[in-house]
Amino acid sequence: MSLTVVEHKKLLINNEWRDAAGGKTMDVVNPATEEVIATVASADASDVDDAVNAARAALNGPWGRMSARERGRLVSRLADRLMERADEVARLETLHNGKPIFESRQIEIPAAAECLEYYAGWADKIMGETIPVKGNYLTYTLREPLGVVAAIVPWNFPLLLAAWKVAPALACGNVVILKPASQTPLTAIALGEIAVEVGLPPGVLNVITGPGSSVGQAIVEHPGIDKIAFTGDTSTGKGIMRAAADTLKKITLELGGKSPNIVLADADIDAALRGATTGIFYGKGEVCAAGSRLLVDKSIKSEFMDKLAARAKKMVAGDPLDPKTRYGALASKKQLETVQRYVAIAKNEGATLVAGGERADIGTGKGYFFQPTVFDQVAPDATISREEIFGPVLATIEFTDLDEAIALANASQYGLAAAVWTRDIKKAHYMARKLQAGTVWINTYNIYDTAAPFGGYKASGFGREMSSHALEHYTQVKSVWVDLNM
Ligand code: NAD
Repeated sequence: MSLTVVEHKKLLINNEWRDAAGGKTMDVVNPATEEVIATVASADASDVDDAVNAARAALNGPWGRMSARERGRLVSRLADRLMERADEVARLETLHNGKPIFESRQIEIPAAAECLEYYAGWADKIMGETIPVKGNYLTYTLREPLGVVAAIVPWNFPLLLAAWKVAPALACGNVVILKPASQTPLTAIALGEIAVEVGLPPGVLNVITGPGSSVGQAIVEHPGIDKIAFTGDTSTGKGIMRAAADTLKKITLELGGKSPNIVLADADIDAALRGATTGIFYGKGEVCAAGSRLLVDKSIKSEFMDKLAARAKKMVAGDPLDPKTRYGALASKKQLETVQRYVAIAKNEGATLVAGGERADIGTGKGYFFQPTVFDQVAPDATISREEIFGPVLATIEFTDLDEAIALANASQYGLAAAVWTRDIKKAHYMARKLQAGTVWINTYNIYDTAAPFGGYKASGFGREMSSHALEHYTQVKSVWVDLNM
């Protein structure tokens, strides 16, 4: 692993790079080496004020007057420039998050660019309607931007989850204040650089770095912000909902999950094994939709678990910057400690450890690496069946019939995603209807597309990201009545 020169990065407000008003900075750590790789400005409430002022001026300035098509062209240029800089941005994503460069370069950065491109295409296709009302009136609707949107994102897919918000927000004519997670600010800053490079007018995209508890809170309480698009922890989401109430902000919340991955006895076992493995270990399990509860039919479970444990043991952590690595470092020390705590709880509660369970070492003696971990014989009400770990720890629960599987799957406060593995088309669709989740995968896992909506049921949040559905969350509708009575 190469030594990295420590760089200092600033806030982007009104297309100007500046230090935080209070002069504070925060360290950014590479979780694979435990080294500080950058410092970033740590904003306070007065920086948020400045960003809001810049954003409002942009709304009332050239951005507000720009044609929708021209706006779309600029968003499209963001996508193009991001792909031109993909190698460098992917490297930053890997450096601050610990995910393999394969995931950053081949999956996440291209998906972020595709999201920008997709919404660029929507910009001039957001239309109102004419309405056949009673009386002699011309009544039509205008679909207008909300105004200043704050996008608050977590550290697991820092750039992609920013793109899911920034792209529809800009395409719909809003202006954005982007606040990345403290651990992973570098790719949001790169997106800010790209915005300046492609000629987004000043104030249209502002990037504010700083702790969620102070600067995030200042954003949520700010009367000059119209909407919060948030992805993060369920408890943070609840706090945001409460804090946003005073100013009646619109909010969309993408929160946690404890998604069931259900293997029926008639499944293609090899495919289900691959799905169970990638479902929990892709992204080191730091994936909101991770298939962290494996529900397996009792009649096939013993053989299934033997094979699954063998697969998990073969997944070896490696240097995230090595293109061959498929399993990287957990994103932070805090995250490593959380995973270790849950593994200890699972053991104490009597679950059977069949793979992993320990810190991993890639030969450097450094880094927050943790082995892919599988628990069998987990009780449905055990802590690791109920609580989101957000790490590479799988809880396996057995069932004996379809309705028991559905009941177990739905016995969760969360409802982000679910998957079913079966060769029976009727059972597959029956389950798809019964499962309380915003996404149901059949014979696959962790598949996403910008054109398909994504979001939660229950405590996994509300609102949908991606697809045409997201446009509703970045626009408001105005009815216009014209008296035509002669
Ligand atoms: P987090 O809630 O701690 O932080 C998310 C963001 O919110 C960060 O930018 C943080 O600085 C900010 N924040 C923290 N406190 C705040 C406050 N009081 N006011 C405003 N902003 C505040 O979550 P995390 O640990 O970064 O991310 C992990 C969580 O995100 C997991 O629960 C995971 O399931 C969830 N997640 C959900 C999705 C989804 O699409 N549903 C996707 C990815 C992650």
